[in-house]
Amino acid sequence: MNVPLLDLKAQHRAVTDAVMARVMAVVESQQFILGQPVQDLEAAIAGLCRARYAVGVASGTDALLLPLKALDLQPGDEVITTPFTFFATAGTIHNAGARPVFVDIEPDTYNIDVAQVEAAITPRTRAVVPVHLFGQMVAMERLLPLAARHGLAVIEDACQAIGARRRIDGQWRSAGELGTATSLSFFPTKNLGGWGDGGMVVTSDERLAGRVRRLRTHGGMKMYFHEEVGTNSRLDAIQAAVLLAKLPHLAEWSAARRMHGEAYGAALAGVVGVRVPAVDPANEHIFHQYVIAAERRDALQAHLKAAGIGTAVYYPRPLHLQNCFAYLGYEAGAFPVSETATQRVLALPVYPELAEAQRDYVVAAIRRFYGA
Ligand SMILES: *Cc1c(COP(=O)(O)O)cnc(C)c1O
Repeated sequence: MNVPLLDLKAQHRAVTDAVMARVMAVVESQQFILGQPVQDLEAAIAGLCRARYAVGVASGTDALLLPLKALDLQPGDEVITTPFTFFATAGTIHNAGARPVFVDIEPDTYNIDVAQVEAAITPRTRAVVPVHLFGQMVAMERLLPLAARHGLAVIEDACQAIGARRRIDGQWRSAGELGTATSLSFFPTKNLGGWGDGGMVVTSDERLAGRVRRLRTHGGMKMYFHEEVGTNSRLDAIQAAVLLAKLPHLAEWSAARRMHGEAYGAALAGVVGVRVPAVDPANEHIFHQYVIAAERRDALQAHLKAAGIGTAVYYPRPLHLQNCFAYLGYEAGAFPVSETATQRVLALPVYPELAEAQRDYVVAAIRRFYGA
C-alpha cells in the first residue's frame, strides 16, 4: 500500500468544478492583481479569524514581514520567538531589522514556553511572535497579559493554524483574534492551500491594517505617490479564486484531520518508543501536522519509507543553531527541549482524504517497528 504524507490530487478531485469556475471567471476578466476575489477572500478570512481587517499578501512570509515592518523596528530592537518553527518566523524578524531572541518550547505541545518569555524580555524587546505550531494554539491567555505589561506587540504566526481555536474564560477564541496582527499562509500544503504562494495578515487594528495595505503596494495608496518605502506583495486574484472555492470545505477538512489525529492517538498510545502529540484540553487542534516523538526516529522513518509510507521531519535543526544566525551567539545546549525535539519528531500522513485502511496500515507498520 502507498500512503503519501499529503495527497493534494485527492483534494483537487473533490473541488475541481468549483475551483475551475472561479478561476475561469478571473481568466475571463483578465484582472489578475488584487480585485474583487481578493476583497471577497479578505472579508471571509477576517470573519473566520474574528478580526476586523484582513490584507492579502504574496506569501505567509510577507504576512509576517509586513506587520513587523509596520512596528518600525530599530537596529538593536529585539523580538522574542521560538527556535522550533519554520525558518520564516525568525528570518522575517531579521529582515524587518530586529534581532531574533529565542525562548525554548514546552515538551508536550512544542509551542513556545510562555513561562520562559518574561526572563527574555529586556528594555530593547519590542514584540513577541508566538507560533501556533502544527495547528495548536499557544496559551494566549498567559502570553497576552505579559506582553501588555511590557508594552510588546504580539504578532501571531498562524501559518499552520488557520481556523484553530482555544477556549479562554469559557469562550472560543480563534487564531488571529487576539494578537496585534496575525500571519496566515496559503502555501499549497497548508490546510487552506492555493495554487502557489499566498498569505494574509489579519488584525483588528485599523491603522495597522492600513499600513500593511500600503506596504504591499510600494508604500503608497495612490499610484506613483509613496509615503514610505514598501514592496510588491499582493495576493493574486487567481489565488484568491482558488481559495474562495476551497474555503467552504476548510471546517470539514480540519474535522477530518482531527478525527485521524484521535484515531492515531488511540492506536499508538500504548506503543513503547512513541509519544503521541499532546492536545491541550483548551485547544481545538487542526492538525496541520500530526507529529509523534519517536525513539530511533531515523530508523523508523526508513522503515516506513520502505513500507511505502511518507513522513517528514519538522524540523531537523532548531533556528538558534542555523548558520545564518551564528551572529546571535547561541550555542548547542541553549534550548534543550527544542534540540531534543529535532531528533525525535516525525510527521505522519494526516490529510483529510486519508482512508481508514491507509491509517491502519501506518499504525501497523509503526507497531511492527517497535515489536508492539
Ligand atoms: C508556512 C509557514 C510560514 C511561511 O509561509 P510561506 O507562505 O511559505 O511564506 C511561516 N511560518 C510558519 C510556521 C509556517 O509553517
